[in-house]
Amino acid sequence: MTELNIVAVLSTTISPIDGLQDIYTVSICPDIQGVPHYIGHPDTKEIVEQLGAVQAPSKLFTGLQPGESAVCVPIQQGKSTRATEGFTTPHQGVVLSDLSVRIMTRIDAENPCIFCGGRMLVGKMHCPSCGAC
Ligand SMILES: [Zn+2]
Repeated sequence: MTELNIVAVLSTTISPIDGLQDIYTVSICPDIQGVPHYIGHPDTKEIVEQLGAVQAPSKLFTGLQPGESAVCVPIQQGKSTRATEGFTTPHQGVVLSDLSVRIMTRIDAENPCIFCGGRMLVGKMHCPSCGAC
């Protein structure tokens, strides 16, 4: 596995900008020491800060650039009070086992294919649209 360039810790897999995102769940949270987080939920925030993430200067996550990854720590389905109450209450206690850890990586390259204008993938020489290399 290639080393991840983790630039953000998020409470969910949000993608405010267009791009191809590769998202997968991991069982062990990667090192997020010093990584800015954009989490408002108090318990989740406490957990990620215990893991070394730091409060981002802005509450607004502006998205991933090609090759960048975010660690997303949503509360696992069924463990959130959202299902029954329609929202997550700030009083809901969360421990690490309640969170799933998902890695979201932006895999489309900055520049489109020079032949067909299609999306290129980071680190790949072939165009997935036209096959040019
Ligand atoms: Zn192409």
